[in-house]
Amino acid sequence: MQGRMQDWPLTVDRIIDHAKSWHGDREIVSRSVEGPMVRTTYAQVHARAKRVSNVLRGLNIQPGDRVATLAWNTARHIEAWYGIMGMGAVCHTLNPRLFAEQLVYIINHAEDKIIFTDLTFLPILAGIRDQIPTVQHIIVFTDDAHMTADLPGAHSYESLLSQVSEDAVWGGFDENSPAGLCYTSGTTGNPKGVLYTHRSNFLHTLVTMGADVLGIGALDTVLPVVPMFHANAWGVAFSAPAVGAKLVMPGSKLDGASIHELLESEQVTFSAAVPTVWQMLLTHLRDTNGTLSSLKRVVIGGSAVPEAIVRAFRDDYGVAVTHAWGMTETSPLGTQATPNHKIAAMSDEDQLRFQLKQGRPPLGIDLRLTDDAGHDLPRDGHTFGKLLVKGPFVVGEYFKGDGGHILDDQGFFDTGDVATLDEHGFMQITDRAKDVIKSGGEWISTIEIENIAAGHPKAELAAVIGMPHPKWDERPLLLVKLRPGQTATKEEFLAFLEGKIAKWWTPDDVVFVDDIPLGATGKIDKKLIRTRMADYVLP
Ligand code: ADP
Repeated sequence: MQGRMQDWPLTVDRIIDHAKSWHGDREIVSRSVEGPMVRTTYAQVHARAKRVSNVLRGLNIQPGDRVATLAWNTARHIEAWYGIMGMGAVCHTLNPRLFAEQLVYIINHAEDKIIFTDLTFLPILAGIRDQIPTVQHIIVFTDDAHMTADLPGAHSYESLLSQVSEDAVWGGFDENSPAGLCYTSGTTGNPKGVLYTHRSNFLHTLVTMGADVLGIGALDTVLPVVPMFHANAWGVAFSAPAVGAKLVMPGSKLDGASIHELLESEQVTFSAAVPTVWQMLLTHLRDTNGTLSSLKRVVIGGSAVPEAIVRAFRDDYGVAVTHAWGMTETSPLGTQATPNHKIAAMSDEDQLRFQLKQGRPPLGIDLRLTDDAGHDLPRDGHTFGKLLVKGPFVVGEYFKGDGGHILDDQGFFDTGDVATLDEHGFMQITDRAKDVIKSGGEWISTIEIENIAAGHPKAELAAVIGMPHPKWDERPLLLVKLRPGQTATKEEFLAFLEGKIAKWWTPDDVVFVDDIPLGATGKIDKKLIRTRMADYVLP
């Protein structure tokens, strides 16, 4: 027997339909790539997204075809996003920070037929145009007056939109149809595609709207600094229209001064970004004696949030930080460090210890911590194990089956992260499995040492990698990039770590470097650091 409720497929076109019907005059403000600020509304974005669908139909795009975007966060990107998904095609977000050869691999693997892009990225596309034969058209988010592309198959977005009607049919397909495609950055092996469904995106949206997750509402003004190409802007491209929040899109300018200007001029209340973005903002605020007059809360994830950032936001600017963990494979939000009733009753300092963890899962995410043999580990806050995850918005298989069978016999996905769970159910990432240092059979968390070292007043950024060692297999090496104009000694940093980490975790050496490289999603690129340090020998 089946229940007797209505069949209402969970497709994402309903999100922007809802925004148009009930929050139609709510603004989307974008810093355009051409320069000026552009103000539009959910009603206008909805109408133009319908035009995008008609343009795509006119270019012979069928449901299930992949249509890529290589673009900054702007209202036009949101229009294309919903126009592509609404008519049943798959919106494939491309990360412009990837190397050209990775982009070529991903575009060919996805068999993208069309790429929507910004003027900024035309040089990248010009460089690879003859290596991406499936791409028939390149649609540049601009008007004829600004159109500079002379690539084969290039059109201006505005001229295409002006030629079609805004009357288009959306939805009407199964909620398990594919809606989006995002490749992992492929720090090991080739990038792998995560093919989201309408249903998985819809459910992820409902979950992230919860008060303990993103917790945004109609009164919020939301600035997603995190790009739409980085795991769906952590769901904000769906959840902001879903609740009718004002959306502020930063375009190509993500430096501290530009973000600060937007936060203040648009009176932003909520924002989301990786730690390096916040570090830039805080440095800018300090240098300019800047203030934050409207910002209430920031979500920080993608890599572990350093304590200094949480303290600076809390103590100097009155902004609450929510630390979150997730991955492309989890749509992406997997845990968030919002307090439960016991943690909320603690002092600010005690609460901080939990805020620095990655947090607890919302409804819809099952977490397990196991040893290598698959046995569950205790929730004692210090036993490290493999972090496994399961749920309706967690990957089941990579696109085209590449990567093989990825779920265990109970249907859990191995995140590749090493973590602990404590008695409050708070998960803490200790490392990526491939970065954790194995010293004399015991594990050392590189992330923990990095975060403490980065809190040294002279440090701008710190990274820890394992170096080969004849006796212990591997020992930690600390690399520090100092703040401009600073000098420091190895002893200063080792003294700073003393008492904060186990003695045997103490790095064998400290090297001061001019640059700590960041990867395509703003994380420390340890693979590149290991290559750079290949000839280095521990003292
Ligand atoms: P990419 O490598 O393309 O950025 P993801 O964004 O999917 O891919 O990266 C997911 C990984 O990022 C996680 O498996 C985890 O290792 C790391 N990560 C994400 N959030 C956090 C966090 N809050 N703290 C520590 N690591 C994090």
